[in-house]
Amino acid sequence: MNYEIARKKMVQEQIVARGVSDRRVIDAMLKIPRHIFVQEAFALQAYNDTSLPIGEKQTISQPYMVALMTEQLELRGTEKVLEIGTGSGYQTAILATLADRVCTAERIRPLALRARKCLDSLRLFNIMLRINDSEDSPVGWEEEAPFDAIIVTAGAPDIPKVLTDQLAVGGRLVIPVGSEAEQVLVKIVKGADGELETASSVGCRFVPLIGRQGW
Ligand code: SAH
Repeated sequence: MNYEIARKKMVQEQIVARGVSDRRVIDAMLKIPRHIFVQEAFALQAYNDTSLPIGEKQTISQPYMVALMTEQLELRGTEKVLEIGTGSGYQTAILATLADRVCTAERIRPLALRARKCLDSLRLFNIMLRINDSEDSPVGWEEEAPFDAIIVTAGAPDIPKVLTDQLAVGGRLVIPVGSEAEQVLVKIVKGADGELETASSVGCRFVPLIGRQGW
């Protein structure tokens, strides 16, 4: 298996062909090896057009969804980004390649520790990872707010106010919103006077966001 060839094919057929056009996002998806973020047994499927199990009943998101959500964050390299749901750390690696700094939070300790190892092996050192494993851990990261971009990689019943509060003026929040079974991808932009502009795009299926702002 030549992973680099598989990755190029993934980017061309699943991402560019479906309309993702941000050159920086495309380059990051070409650069970051997805196979190191999946369990060894799934390495040969790492570049397939699908989400995959990562243990603890969680999944690494479909490559297209990672690219689409990242494109919607409109990163230019100077941003401070918050990610809720580190999971495998793959999306985190893409964000760290495209932004100045990434704060990422995960509630399942073994996943967070494995993600940390993968991210360190890629020498991505602009990432702060926090484990939110207590029942009443807040969604968000008050001490590091505001954020220029926020991405939630688990499905939420509503747009958490705590996250729009932590968005900088001009900032973008991308989050799957809907039922536990299926959601739509929602993008929220905070305007100059703090008003929120909301737009929905594609249907999607994420694992549920757990906790006070989730299920
Ligand atoms: N971007 C990840 C997606 C992982 S799935 C990847 O591609 O690998 C979503 C993750 O969100 C799971 O690991 C789950 O444990 C985590 N999660 C769910 N609710 C959370 C919460 N309230 N705070 C932090 N992480 C949460």
